[in-house]
Amino acid sequence: MKQLEEYVRSIPDFPEEGIIFRDVTSVLQDADGLQLAVDTMQDMVKDLEFDVVVGPESRGFIFGTPIAYNLKKPFVLIRKKGKLPCETVSIEYELEYGTATIEMHKDSIKQGQKILIVDDLIATGGTTEAMIRLIESLGGEVVGIVVMIELAGLKGRERLKNYRLESAICYE
Ligand code: IMP
Repeated sequence: MKQLEEYVRSIPDFPEEGIIFRDVTSVLQDADGLQLAVDTMQDMVKDLEFDVVVGPESRGFIFGTPIAYNLKKPFVLIRKKGKLPCETVSIEYELEYGTATIEMHKDSIKQGQKILIVDDLIATGGTTEAMIRLIESLGGEVVGIVVMIELAGLKGRERLKNYRLESAICYE
């Protein structure tokens, strides 16, 4: 049986020279790859007690929803600015070039709920840090973060050292 990392396609010099882009689509478009990714990530948090799965647009939705469904938990979306129809909380954060704003519905998390964040990939950890601040502003407690891929060289783990972070594949 193939290992999960064998389903990840690595593209040199994308989106710019010197960067190796780790492509998640090659995992998703293979039935075994998709199943292995979800099962592996879910297994990494099997000891964790939480109330809600939160995932960001767009690839956080792909991995977060099946985990929430399997474990019979609700799934809450974090979206890019301007997409959610009801009252939201939002946060702006730094990207490599410029800034981004993400939002959540104000009523999506209740005070004291324990939250598992699910995403496809962690690089600098900037996106995850912004998500944590958003969740905490609503009174949620982030008890874990699980991603399929960690780019360890970008030191996201250090940035998130106060939180439990699980990754199914780790690239240096
Ligand atoms: P961070 O905020 O620096 O941790 O970046 C996380 C986001 O950057 C991920 O959710 C991805 O969407 C995107 N990203 C960065 N590098 C890669 C890559 O090699 N493959 C796929 N997505 C990437």
